[in-house]
Amino acid sequence: MNAPAAAPRPRLLWANVLMFALTFAAAVVVVPWYGFAVGYSGAAWAWFAILLYANGLAITGGYHRLWSHRTYDAHWSVRLVYMILGAMALQNSILVWAAGHRDHHKYTDDNDRDPYSAGRGLWFSHIGWMLRRYPSGEPNFDNVRDLQKDPLVAFQHRYYYVLAIGLNVLVPLALGWLHGDLWGVFLLAGVLRLVVSHHFTFLINSLAHFTGRQPYGDGHSARDNGWLAFLTYGEGYHNFHHQFAHDFRNGIRWWHWDPSKWIICALSWVGLTSRLKRTPAVAIHRARLAMQFRRVEAGLARRSLSLPHVDVAELRERVRREYALFTATLAEWSRLTDAWYARTRATVVARWEKASFHAETRALLYALRMQHRRLELLGAQLA
Ligand SMILES: [Zn+2]
Ligand SMILES: [Zn+2]
Repeated sequence: MNAPAAAPRPRLLWANVLMFALTFAAAVVVVPWYGFAVGYSGAAWAWFAILLYANGLAITGGYHRLWSHRTYDAHWSVRLVYMILGAMALQNSILVWAAGHRDHHKYTDDNDRDPYSAGRGLWFSHIGWMLRRYPSGEPNFDNVRDLQKDPLVAFQHRYYYVLAIGLNVLVPLALGWLHGDLWGVFLLAGVLRLVVSHHFTFLINSLAHFTGRQPYGDGHSARDNGWLAFLTYGEGYHNFHHQFAHDFRNGIRWWHWDPSKWIICALSWVGLTSRLKRTPAVAIHRARLAMQFRRVEAGLARRSLSLPHVDVAELRERVRREYALFTATLAEWSRLTDAWYARTRATVVARWEKASFHAETRALLYALRMQHRRLELLGAQLA
């Protein structure tokens, strides 16, 4: 019997292949050559940095957190800026990008349906998925009907190629002409900026699904990675993002490097963004502690025979007590909040009652935070 013939590989998307290959070749050959032969002006470096960040933030703050996930609302002027700078980032139109990204979340790691599934390898999830017409990469526009109503999104989709090519050629050339350094600015703020901007963003689909920690959930390959956040405008906290995709933040602590979050937040102070969605703190603590319990349990099962210096039975008893405390704290949280909402629906509450409710919920969150620390210490004994 003949073996079934292997399915033919999807055809190459030559426009993408040439665009990525030629810009990459220019960035690694022509850009350094010009630097050695002629040198670059301060203006060229400054515009490289400004446009790199402007493009990156338009993708993360606009394409990703605003349009793909609707984590907040933005004034039309903010959407206009995102739309223009996002087109300049040359990552397809908002509509195509969001359609693919919504599938990425809906079917994460499903090799047949996630457009940039990590299960198909680092190269595929980084860039390979854009080089051939893979069925998984076909945009499903049913996914983005809500976005089609946004006139700015529809306009950008219609004139995407004119906008994208025009902005990438004309803006760097115009800036170069203004500074009297036409080719220097074009090479750094045009070519190098585009290549670096591409690969920094692509790292979110590739490395952020391969290396890092999974503090909030392991039902998917997404990982938290502090150093990656520096390169990806704050999107390195990808495990949190996949777990709580409707949160406008990716890095939730104030010290987490997340410039996209800071900009969205700062714009809300002047009324340009609104309805910023945040995951309730208790849900974040619950997810994190549930993961810790699973890890500690797995550690106990794995190391029970190989740790003669540790009293495993005593550790097991401590974990049991911690777990009972965890469920009791969550039950108390539910009781407290249910009673509060029933009361606020029925009557107008006094200020002192509000203050007392907030104090009680703060105390419960503090208890969960302390429990997280204790479990960290406990887990360290099993490492
Ligand atoms: Zn992802
Ligand atoms: Zn996302």
